[in-house]
Amino acid sequence: MTDQDRPAQQQEPPGLTEPMQPRPDHGEQSYRGHGLLEGRRALVTGGDSGIGRAVAIAFAREGADVAIGYLAEEQEDADETARWVREAGRTCVLVPGDLRDEDTARGAVRTAVEGLDGLDVLVNNAGYQMARRDSFEDVTTDDLDRVMRTNLYALHWVTQEALPHLGEGSAIVNCSSIQAYQPSSALVDYASTKAAINNITVNLAAELGPRGIRVNAVAPGPIWTPLQPATQPAEKVASFGQDTPLGRAGQPAEVAPAFVFLASSTTGSYVSGTVLGVTGGKPVF
Ligand code: NAD
Ligand code: MG
Repeated sequence: MTDQDRPAQQQEPPGLTEPMQPRPDHGEQSYRGHGLLEGRRALVTGGDSGIGRAVAIAFAREGADVAIGYLAEEQEDADETARWVREAGRTCVLVPGDLRDEDTARGAVRTAVEGLDGLDVLVNNAGYQMARRDSFEDVTTDDLDRVMRTNLYALHWVTQEALPHLGEGSAIVNCSSIQAYQPSSALVDYASTKAAINNITVNLAAELGPRGIRVNAVAPGPIWTPLQPATQPAEKVASFGQDTPLGRAGQPAEVAPAFVFLASSTTGSYVSGTVLGVTGGKPVF
């Protein structure tokens, strides 16, 4: 089954990998490491599935130990990511917990730091959207709260808690979106958080540069992950990504190298305060 004949399908949030047709490609069979993150210790929020899983696999194959954050109901996805990280010969620390709660979010970072014996790379990848709505008036307070807490509050709490552990040469990589540049009306609240994440990225890069910490973001276009069947109308899932210049949705495996590039002091040593688009051709300016 190719991306072009993906059937209409729907799940409830947060969504799982197993029911997806076709299954996403996280680089399990293709990603080759080059020692770009040798000995580094990374926390990837939302590392159980989708882009986060591909990042965890790539980081492990580049030589990093990895902690992954996720929701308790995603345990089976987290176990699968951990299996790949461990198969690469690296440690995987499992950190379940709902990052919408401040104590849980801060505690997750502490668990990761303990399990990894330190921290060098933080990937703020956990995110939430809801696109099953027809107009601005359909944005519920519950959706608004979930989107803002997951995408913005958690990013603040996790980053604040991580900062005392991040030394010179460390890197933060946030997950933005094409939605920061070309917002869809159904994703008005989500898109606004991604624009804010770009803004925070530039701001933090300025503040943390003198400490030798680089801060960047990746802005993915339409990527085939559980988030899509869990939050889009079923029929939109079938045509998802076909409006890009490359004419298809991307795979998580095609996004992970951007995170590696920005996280690594070998490839990204002079890159900070930037947003790298991986969008299938949609503009990120
Ligand atoms: P995904 O569903 O595989 O990953 C999102 C993860 O966020 C979940 O696995 C979950 O573990 C985590 N998460 C959500 N709410 C949480 C909470 N309250 N507490 C803890 N963890 C929570 O989907 P994905 O597409 O890989 O998403 C990863 C990132 O990529 C998100 O920030 C998303 O906004 C962004 N993104 C995705 C696309 C796309 O088309 N898939 C496009 C642009 C940006
Ligand atoms: Mg998941």
